[in-house]
Amino acid sequence: MMTFKYSNSVPKSNENATADILKAASDPKVISFAGGLPAAELFPVEQMKAASDKVFDLYGQEVLQYASTLGYLGLRKEIVKMMKERAVETSVDNIAVTTGSQQAIDLVARMLINPGDVVITEDPTYLAAIDVFKSYGAEMVGVPMDEDGIKTDALAETVKKYPEAKFIYTIPNFQNPTGRTMAIERRKELIKIANEADLPVLEDDPYGAIRYAGEFLPSLKHFDTEGRVIYLSSFSKILAPGMRLGWIVASQDFMAKFALLEQNADLHADNLAQYVVAQFLQDVDVTEHIKKITDVYEHRATLMLQEIDKQFPKNVHHSIPQGEIFIWVEVPGVDTKQLFDECIKHDVAFVPGSAFFTNEEQPGTFRMNFSNMNDEQIVEGVKRMGAAIKAVQN
Ligand code: PMP
Repeated sequence: MMTFKYSNSVPKSNENATADILKAASDPKVISFAGGLPAAELFPVEQMKAASDKVFDLYGQEVLQYASTLGYLGLRKEIVKMMKERAVETSVDNIAVTTGSQQAIDLVARMLINPGDVVITEDPTYLAAIDVFKSYGAEMVGVPMDEDGIKTDALAETVKKYPEAKFIYTIPNFQNPTGRTMAIERRKELIKIANEADLPVLEDDPYGAIRYAGEFLPSLKHFDTEGRVIYLSSFSKILAPGMRLGWIVASQDFMAKFALLEQNADLHADNLAQYVVAQFLQDVDVTEHIKKITDVYEHRATLMLQEIDKQFPKNVHHSIPQGEIFIWVEVPGVDTKQLFDECIKHDVAFVPGSAFFTNEEQPGTFRMNFSNMNDEQIVEGVKRMGAAIKAVQN
């Protein structure tokens, strides 16, 4: 058999603890709070079908042709409008459509990271971003968080310690995995720190539109006067992740280089999907659609928090999300891998916190997701988890 000499970007081991967890959680009898899937019953299937039919009628040949690397102009115009609602003034020349925001994370990493470079992140942070940064040889430096997001005093220290760091990666809204939101003062402080240290900021905001508590907070990009914030978002959480459409907003200088890399990666994002989403955004009241998702997630979050308070031991701490799909739980003194095994015996699953830390793991932590489970499953699943926690605590 051929033995391949893989590049340094390929992990040495095939072990993938998270994949194993998600596999165990995918057993149909398991109530899974492990993944982060949107509620499929909220996908706008009929409206998307209507948009698709219309696109084929109006632009049949055009949508099936190769197209511009930065993306369909009609969609980029819609994104300019959406960004305005998010308090960011931008133009079509500052935007590229990508194959999900995951591709944008990968391409930005490819643009900025040389092997050995330091990337500063929240600790814990989004697992698939950690994996991407590491695949380009980055050294990850995590900054602790509290309920108000990244601790900016600790960030200032870290930036001083690593003046050669390449960029700060952050998820300010309803962070994955903690569900926490960065407070407004912290946002301003982060930009100040980045300005003083002349560091780029990669702002990952796939979740910001689905807020059910607290008030709208402007993005870091809103406070950026120097073109240092690279902003990413996605249609995955507001429309449908299977369409694989995300976007990046950055300075025109940065976008010129980004276009070269996107061309190498896939020439352009799926043209048909881009036309269909643009048509959808023109024909459908997307605010109303987002409100439907927000209402359902608010209900599920409230129910899960209420059941956690009822079923988990009293020494448990948990985040209270203002939007989207994750709750972060800390059970002092519990080995969460052992808890996971115990939970699987009870047919319920979550993701142990260890997966999300870049530096030192904070023991006893784990992530719970509620977006893809109905009321009955939430009540029953939390009850089973409560029993499992008590079993491993004793
Ligand atoms: N960033 C974060 C923080 C995520 O949680 C995810 C996936 N849910 C992504 C980016 C990628 O999402 P997508 O590629 O579907 O836009």
